[in-house]
Amino acid sequence: MKLFDIPAVTESASASRGGRVFRKASDMVPSKPFDYSHVQKWAPDADFTDLASFYPVAGEKHGVIPQEQLLALYEKYLQLWLEKMPTSKKLQDAGRKNMLWGIFGSYQKDWETPVLPFSKHCDGGKLWDVDDNEYIDLQFGDTPSMFGHGASNPAIKAAAESLLTTGIDPMMGTEDQAIAAAELEKHFKLPVWMHALTASDSNRYLLSIARCVTGRPNIAIPNFTYHGTIDETQKMMPEPGVISRYHEMPQYYAEVDQGTKIFTWNDLESLEECLKDKSVAVVMMEPIMSNFGWAWPEEGWHEGVRALTEKYGTMLCYDETHTLGYDWNGAAGVMDLEYDMWSCGKAISSGIPGAVFGMTREIADQLENWQNEAGFFAGAGLGFLGNALTGNTMSTVALRVTMQEVMIPSVFEEIHAKARFVHEGMTAIFEKYGAPFRSEIMGNRLCFHFISDRAHDPLTGIAQIGFGGLFEFAHAYMWYHGLLIMPFFNMVLVCPQHTQEDLDKYLEVFDDMIAIIMGQKAG
Ligand code: PMP
Repeated sequence: MKLFDIPAVTESASASRGGRVFRKASDMVPSKPFDYSHVQKWAPDADFTDLASFYPVAGEKHGVIPQEQLLALYEKYLQLWLEKMPTSKKLQDAGRKNMLWGIFGSYQKDWETPVLPFSKHCDGGKLWDVDDNEYIDLQFGDTPSMFGHGASNPAIKAAAESLLTTGIDPMMGTEDQAIAAAELEKHFKLPVWMHALTASDSNRYLLSIARCVTGRPNIAIPNFTYHGTIDETQKMMPEPGVISRYHEMPQYYAEVDQGTKIFTWNDLESLEECLKDKSVAVVMMEPIMSNFGWAWPEEGWHEGVRALTEKYGTMLCYDETHTLGYDWNGAAGVMDLEYDMWSCGKAISSGIPGAVFGMTREIADQLENWQNEAGFFAGAGLGFLGNALTGNTMSTVALRVTMQEVMIPSVFEEIHAKARFVHEGMTAIFEKYGAPFRSEIMGNRLCFHFISDRAHDPLTGIAQIGFGGLFEFAHAYMWYHGLLIMPFFNMVLVCPQHTQEDLDKYLEVFDDMIAIIMGQKAG
């Protein structure tokens, strides 16, 4: 999927050295194409092997201006935005000498813009780039900082203060850890917790615990899901029974069809097909599929999943990394789901690196017994469920305070009120211009979607993002107007520090943007 034109790396930078042979990009066979036929109604003219050609309202235009016109407007606003970022460009160009793409983190590349933005300063709900452009932050790094940047977030303040006195890695327990774990039980039901540094790691450890305690080799995930940088979960099913990778960089080089079974979201029959040979240790999924566009659970889905996992002796794990902001107890809490394992990273410690994974007492007893039987330093040692920095003082303080002072009902009442204001505002704007689009709300998280039906399957979820013009124009237009929305889908996050003025400004720009899309205002 190529959304923006990124300047190619120069010949000399890509030349091979020391006689090593590098594969050409064209040799890295991309994923097999998906079967898009059932979402064709939204984009009848699209080439479904190329998301950039996807234009949800093509064919029946509903008053939306032609695709070429939207793409030209996107080029215009992207260019205008890039012109405001000369220092970012300089920093990225200079950074290319020592860093891939001129930046340190792979997420920081995900703007996929010809010039990547560089940040100077963040505070509460605002961000300033290195050219002193001010933004209302609505993306918060794809959720980690969604409870606010800097000292106005009590968890970040407490972590920063503790650093000066407690040290960060004493390699000892701290009193805070037990308080934080007890808080986790209050919020997310499960009694026993461990700490990790990323959601990917939490998920990785849970998959291995599930395999260990059940003695089963496989895991199962829904098609098109995302659970982090884990080989077994970065797979998809282009057609029933076929497993493929999203990319050609498997991190453990096992055969692609080993270890992972894939089922269709909201389809209990396909899940049962995966589970019935009793080789699946754990089903890992989100309460609501929320990467890219959202795919909501149909009525009875979660209950059915629970019943099937019990029937076949499979663990059920919810990854709440992207649905945490639904409420103080996450989406699984609001939906009153039952599970054996639960994981979360990113915002769980207000963006200070930290993640958690929880399990039932039964699983924990099993692990402790094995450790005792195996003895000190034995091969079964569970020390591998973590690394040197897990459980560190700074992350633990940030986690505890996030649970005690940030993820609490009174803070969420305010967040819900703000999010509802934006949701109702966007919905009214669609009505005002007769736009066949939809605003959706999931706690502190909103999405504007460019089709009129709610999605219950992930492909419609992707279609609704509006790749092929609507997505690109919306993003460039908002970025240029000082609204920092997520670069790879249409998510808008509301944080406790956003002011009424911030929300009004968002809706003002959004109103203009929809008027342009609907041909009722010049772009
Ligand atoms: N699980 C889910 C549901 C996610 O959305 C993500 C990241 N987008 C992850 C896990 C991985 O998080 P991290 O990159 O912090 O490991």
